[in-house]
Amino acid sequence: MQKFQMTTPLVEMDGDEMTRVLWTAIKEKLIHPFVDLKTEYYDLGLEYRDQTDDQVTVAAAEACKKYGVGVKCATITPNKQRVEEYNLKQMWKSPNGTIRAIMDGTVFRAPVLVNGITPTVSTWKKPITLARHAYGDIYKNTELKAPAGSKAELVVTAPDGTVTRSDIHNFVGDGIVMGMHNTDASIGGFARACFRYALDTHQDLWFSTKDTISKIYDHRFKDIFSEIYEAEFKAAFEEAGLTYFYTLIDDAVARVIRSEGGFIWACKNYDGDVMSDMVATAFGSLAMMTSVLVSPDGKYEYEAAHGTVTRHFYKWRDGEKTSTNPVATIFAWSGALRKRGELDGLEGLQTYADALEKATIDTIEAGEMTGDLYLISTLPNKKKLDSWEFLDAIAGRLAAILR
Ligand code: NAP
Ligand code: MG
Repeated sequence: MQKFQMTTPLVEMDGDEMTRVLWTAIKEKLIHPFVDLKTEYYDLGLEYRDQTDDQVTVAAAEACKKYGVGVKCATITPNKQRVEEYNLKQMWKSPNGTIRAIMDGTVFRAPVLVNGITPTVSTWKKPITLARHAYGDIYKNTELKAPAGSKAELVVTAPDGTVTRSDIHNFVGDGIVMGMHNTDASIGGFARACFRYALDTHQDLWFSTKDTISKIYDHRFKDIFSEIYEAEFKAAFEEAGLTYFYTLIDDAVARVIRSEGGFIWACKNYDGDVMSDMVATAFGSLAMMTSVLVSPDGKYEYEAAHGTVTRHFYKWRDGEKTSTNPVATIFAWSGALRKRGELDGLEGLQTYADALEKATIDTIEAGEMTGDLYLISTLPNKKKLDSWEFLDAIAGRLAAILR
């Protein structure tokens, strides 16, 4: 069989532990036999990050900006215990945080649906994609304790010295107080990433905040989305037959539960943090959740939503064949290769990406699956495979589809 060709390299970011083991196996069994793979390789494994004083992460993020599409393996975010385990020079920052700060993006998370894994919410038939704003609010807050008898005020000093004050509270008993912020630029970037992604994936966009209670802060989000929609995206949405829909967060929650799915739900930072975990869990498994970071200027970084699956890695290191689910990582590759194909006008690469996803879903729906899915699948003929048997089963189907 002739291999599918590429023109621009994909930015490949290798990672840690069990997902690093699967990364190599996925390339060997599912990609190299079919695609003349061109990548610019960055090793984001913790050892090499430490050796390069984390400069490799910065270089990888810059490469994503340069080439436009990257694919990333899960990586360890070091804590104190990891600093000892890997004898690190320092507790390096989260690679995802570093990449996000450089690409300035919005994270979109969507589940992979398969027959036999039933969402907890029985009306959900299509994936719900969660778009989370990744800057500000309580994640960049300032908070203080306010002892009894104290007065708390909000003060903003303009560059010309003008001071605006507003009373927060006069504390009779002990209490607490918090200040948080966001910026028009960041909210605008979030809005544009959401509108573009909706057009790109041909889905309606919902956005929700609590603007009835937060009449200046949340209202600003609502206004910025609305202004950008009217000025830049309305015509394209109408032409594509898509809807932009704003509603209160409480109304959104009720509608999401009653819906069939098949849309993008944009949320502020905290709402997105909480709701993405809820949506992922209700769809069945974190191992089936894909994630893509999209920058305001249209650069893409694809990855799995889960971590490095440390518990499985320690077993694999002891010589055991684990049954770790590679689906989200496979879909990171298919998503990145499809996007590369779209940008470079390579239909073959897009055909390959579609076939890879179909072969993966067909395999699970034929009853061949990893242990995590085996536990929750309702298929009568289900069989538990280890990760390598599972990848071989996908490879067989993929070859048949592409023949
Ligand atoms: P995790 O790697 O997502 O694993 C948590 C548990 O979820 C696993 O022990 C496993 O459950 C199950 N699981 C997750 N993915 C699975 C898969 N593909 N197949 C089968 N089961 C799966 O999260 P963690 O243990 O909290 O974190 C481990 C490391 O990953 C940490 O160092 C963290 O910093 C890093 N992390 C990285 C990213 C990222 O790069 N995007 C995201 C999150 C965490 P059982 O053990 O019950 O089988
Ligand atoms: Mg969370």
